[in-house]
Amino acid sequence: MPDLPPPIASRDVADDEAALQMAELLERGLRRLAITFVNHAGSVLVKGVPLERLVLVANQGVGFSPVADAFGATGLIDPQQSLARPDGDLRLKPDLTALRPLDPASGWAWAPGVRHDRSGGINALDQRGFCARQQASFAAAGLSALAGFEIEWMVGLPQPGGEAGGWTPAVMGGPYGADRLVQGLDYLTAVAEALDAAELPWLQLHPEYGAGQFELSLAAATPLEAADRLVAARLVIQQVSRRFGWISSFAPVVTSDLVGNGGHLHLSVADQGVPLLGGGPGTAGLTARGEALLAGLLEQLPALMPLACGLAVSYVRLAPGRWAAPFQVWGVENREAALRLVPAGGGEPGHLELKVADLSANPYLLMGAVLGVAQDALRHPRVLRPPLSGDPASVPPAEAPRLPKSLSEALLALEASQVLREVMGEVLLRTVAESRQAEVRRSEALSDEDLIASTRAWPLTGL
Ligand code: GLU
Ligand code: MG
Repeated sequence: MPDLPPPIASRDVADDEAALQMAELLERGLRRLAITFVNHAGSVLVKGVPLERLVLVANQGVGFSPVADAFGATGLIDPQQSLARPDGDLRLKPDLTALRPLDPASGWAWAPGVRHDRSGGINALDQRGFCARQQASFAAAGLSALAGFEIEWMVGLPQPGGEAGGWTPAVMGGPYGADRLVQGLDYLTAVAEALDAAELPWLQLHPEYGAGQFELSLAAATPLEAADRLVAARLVIQQVSRRFGWISSFAPVVTSDLVGNGGHLHLSVADQGVPLLGGGPGTAGLTARGEALLAGLLEQLPALMPLACGLAVSYVRLAPGRWAAPFQVWGVENREAALRLVPAGGGEPGHLELKVADLSANPYLLMGAVLGVAQDALRHPRVLRPPLSGDPASVPPAEAPRLPKSLSEALLALEASQVLREVMGEVLLRTVAESRQAEVRRSEALSDEDLIASTRAWPLTGL
């Protein structure tokens, strides 16, 4: 068992505020609350409670074993992890400020949870707590960020012997095809309606490149809210797919002949309210501070990889030529650059897109780490290399280094990063690294094909 750092102080929920909120929710026909958190392996775990218990649950939480952070990608517990032990209990408390409907027609609401120690403080390993601390520290430095995730997923027909055995796209139609839009119109309409009912603002929804693949862009929000929206939107997509009798897969790779599913993160940053990634004298409107931000993020990209791409199969997606951006370069509107600068325009601020990320990332860990690295980048400015235009695969590797090609290589970069060690703290970093080591062990004996099959419908598994 690692020596756990002390819990972090948390605010009590005022009973009368919670009671008022509960009355309003009951009035709207909501009856049940799903409280989720995302564990180290990137799985969304849940406890459901009757909404009538909201006041009590908000203050005391519901029990959740700390062993949940030792669940692996397929749910199995690797006994070699230090958190794989039967004792202890944490209290999962819903964040009432982020509570929203999930599926109002069936009476379910949703709230992201934060795990507290019995003593009342936020548990030091809690991923959302980490993200909230990084956001607070960002704000204390006069910085602000807006963020939004893109979700790519594939829909397939259920396979008689399970998805490990194969995959059949549920909708026909070509890449970005209007034919696929109309083939899947009932489905996409249902997804859009369900997102609206869940109060999840979205910007774009359309077919993606791969067979049976769709993409949703969520509207920008504070970093914590953006991570919350990603979690809720994925649940909404899963629920609608299920209603259609389809399997939705957010796996980085569904079959070896298809492009993968990314989970790209868009981020704009302002310092004292002044945007850093637009309106400046540099390339594509970068300010000098914006250049420092990019340079620092670029330097730390290999170390961020285990947080951005947490499955062993994530690294099968990261092949050149699949728009998964596996190169440690930045570029203006370059879709093969891990950091893509999108210049200001069309009413949107200049922002960057972390293109390399996929949906196996725990969005709270990734977002918190990115904010921490960004803050470090601005505190200790490095010189930014020129942008890369064109295909990074066609220039010498020294100009466009490949990002880690395996989870174990990425893990070495994380463990060697002094910046991320400071941002995450020793114990959070060590237990996340243990979780990734467990995934490395699970995958070691598998061929690429067996590895893809083992997480083909991720996060749905046989367990
Ligand atoms: N599907 C690609 C990926 O794996 C991204 C395609 C794109 O949106 O540019 O990330
Ligand atoms: Mg896309």
